Amino acid sequence: MEKSRVIELDQTCYMPLFTRYPIVLSHGEGPYVYDTAGKKYLDFLAGIAVNALGHGHPRLVEAIADQAKKMIHCSNLYYTEGQAQLAQKLVQLSGLDKVFLANSGAEANEGAIKLARKYAKRISQDKVQIITAEHSFHGRTLATVTATAQPKYQHGYEPLPGGFRYVPYNDIDALATVMSEKTAAVMLEAIQGEGGVNIPDQGYLSQVRALCDKYQALLILDEVQCGMGRTGKMFAYQHEGVKPDIVTMAKGLGGGMPIGAVLGTNQVVQAFSPGDHGSTFGGNPLACAAAIAVLAVMEEEKLPENAQKIGQYMMAALEGLKPKYPQLIQTVRGQGLMIGVKLHKPGKDIVNAALDAGALINCTNGDVLRFVPPLNIRVQHVDELIAILEKVLTKA
Ligand SMILES: *Cc1c(COP(=O)(O)O)cnc(C)c1O
Repeated sequence: MEKSRVIELDQTCYMPLFTRYPIVLSHGEGPYVYDTAGKKYLDFLAGIAVNALGHGHPRLVEAIADQAKKMIHCSNLYYTEGQAQLAQKLVQLSGLDKVFLANSGAEANEGAIKLARKYAKRISQDKVQIITAEHSFHGRTLATVTATAQPKYQHGYEPLPGGFRYVPYNDIDALATVMSEKTAAVMLEAIQGEGGVNIPDQGYLSQVRALCDKYQALLILDEVQCGMGRTGKMFAYQHEGVKPDIVTMAKGLGGGMPIGAVLGTNQVVQAFSPGDHGSTFGGNPLACAAAIAVLAVMEEEKLPENAQKIGQYMMAALEGLKPKYPQLIQTVRGQGLMIGVKLHKPGKDIVNAALDAGALINCTNGDVLRFVPPLNIRVQHVDELIAILEKVLTKA
């Protein structure tokens, strides 16, 4: 189909929810994607931190194809081997006790919120408050968009579910002021993604943990974006040795197959009984096979370590650009391969220019260039990106 025809059909038949770039992508290989005109792009967005193994990783493709031949879906009324195996793996990796599988980040967070509410009700009927952070992002369902403390995502959807309170991120005093016996849970990203790659001060998460313990509130960490090896450890909370009561994950987990997970401690998940929560598609054999393959490759190819190493290299390279473009670049921040460059002005034009120059990057929170590439990239790919950025920044 002609590119113009694809765009015309989309604009006629698809809900007008996305501001799309004027290219039609067709396939990918490793850290590269191609459009229908055959143009090649270096992919440092990776489906927004999803294609953790890059595109077309043979192990992932094979796992999906093999499983598709056996069985794509069956009901959660029956046991499947893949689901049990994946559950065991996620329990081992996270240090929590039990898992529920969903299909997306928002669904994982929705499950976390429901679990926290059920648990807290056992302590006291009015223990319903859930505290989240400004500039957070937790998803697009009504409860998760309410947890997402950004008015632009909530506008027009009122009345929103009750019981949510917002505090500034990385501000322990603000949290301490709001918390009380009525607090059921504090829900935070271990590193904020959509909010601009915001990394809390060392010690912040431990202090939040202590406050949660003081008020018998649960600590829910949303690792949907920063989890799955991206920051150099399997989960970002492991940098500080903090143990959440509930953790959610999704994006990188299936390497591109839709899957999300919520894990809780035994103490907390006791609040759930059969029928309290569920999903038709969640934990289906195809998604589980993909996630098992992704986790196996992450382990064998030491991808968290690679993310750490290449991330350091990339941060240094970006720092090196700062003195060359002081009127553009304000700060460089990140952990592993979750990196943000805060600009002195909106980043939209730079993202568009990078697209023309052959790189997919993204700007979040208006003025933060965000880089969340596949975790198996090498130094040469970073060099290639930096060369493209230099070209773009020189003209910006
Ligand atoms: C992307 C994201 C979500 C939502 O995930 P979906 O799969 O789009 O529902 C939730 N939390 C964080 C931190 C995210 O980055």
